[in-house]
Formats: sequence, structure tokens, C-alpha cells
Amino acid sequence: MSILIDSNNTEKTITPDVDCPCGSDSKYSDCCLPFHKYEKFPATAEQLMKSRFSAFELHFNDYLMRTWDETTRPGNIEFTPGLHWTKLVINGRKKGRKKDREGWVTFVAYYQVGAEEGFLHEKSFFRRNENEHWQYVDGEIKP
Ligand SMILES: [Zn+2]
Repeated sequence: MSILIDSNNTEKTITPDVDCPCGSDSKYSDCCLPFHKYEKFPATAEQLMKSRFSAFELHFNDYLMRTWDETTRPGNIEFTPGLHWTKLVINGRKKGRKKDREGWVTFVAYYQVGAEEGFLHEKSFFRRNENEHWQYVDGEIKP
């Protein structure tokens, strides 16, 4: 990984040929990059979920906002300084396929801040917007 963090907590720099931060085993250029550049749109809720995980790691504020349902979208996103999203494990999905209009993805997102490690276990709800693009609506935190 060649991710550089700038001290202002803005977007990180990533090169296309590194492993994608979503943990897909593909290069960034073959995975989440086309979504982050709006060249392609995720076909499934799970793909959107992964691209948003990468966007959180890379501090891509614009992408996160645009893929957030307007009824639940926050005014702004505060990225925790020094926090790294290190691993994403998808452990459940319901609908969210190409033919569906809504879907749920259950995942565990692991993070690290300095020497501290933790995880977020969540069941997220996604819905297609008027342009047929998947968007994150909300999530239910699990123990
Ligand atoms: Zn990816």
C-alpha cells in the first residue's frame, strides 16, 4: 500500500496499481477506482458497500456524500485522524442484486488507531435512487 496521509485529514493519495483498500484481492484500478471516479456505478449493494469502505479509508468525502441517501446524509463527514480501516469482511447479504431495488449487507469493518484495534459490526440498508444508482440509507449496529 502506498497511501500517503496529509496532515489536514483530507483525501489520501493512492496509486492505481496497489491492492484495493476494500480487500478484494484486485488492484485498485480494477476494483473501486472506476466507482470513485464515477466512470462506473456499482451493480450490487455489496459492491457499493465495498467502494464506500475504500472511500472511508481514503477520506473521499465527495464519493461518500453522493452515495448516501439524501434523507439520511449527514451535513459533513468527520474522519478520525490517524484511523485506518484495515479490513472488511462481508458476512451476510439479502437482495441488493442487479434486479433488486433494495438490499442489506452485513459486515465487520476492522480499524486501527495507533496501537488500538477495533471493529464495527453493522447491517447496512441500501436502496437505488432515481438514477438507479445504489445508495447507503442507514445501518443497524450489531454487537
Ligand atoms: Zn475495491
